[in-house]
Amino acid sequence: MKILKIDHLGIAVNSIDEGKQFWSDVLGLPFEGSETVAEQKVTTAFFPVSESEVELLESTAPDGPVAKYIEKKGQGIQHVAFRVENIEEALAELKEKGVRLIDETPRTGAGGAKIAFLHPKATHGVLVELCERS
Ligand code: ZN
Repeated sequence: MKILKIDHLGIAVNSIDEGKQFWSDVLGLPFEGSETVAEQKVTTAFFPVSESEVELLESTAPDGPVAKYIEKKGQGIQHVAFRVENIEEALAELKEKGVRLIDETPRTGAGGAKIAFLHPKATHGVLVELCERS
């Protein structure tokens, strides 16, 4: 498996509009627009930082994964995403190593990326996302 870089940090917020006031207005990161991923019940907004990005996540429903995260832990860093060269290969390798996966096969995330999550129980508490972009 080849990890190329930290693709983005996923940060759970109550409101992208409020989050934007800090990440964009205060820190000056460019706001690249938002996108709703219906399957994940989330709206995402990306703020590029050089080679990586900050991704704000706002839930679109009270039973969505981001809403549940905020309910349990409050707003904050929800996941770390690594860009991999080949996500199918990476998942096969992790499976072979006995790593518990949330997604055994990739699904489509924001921006059309292929993404998959590893189980936090396998990563000492960090929700890790793998992503491949073409
Ligand atoms: Zn993400």
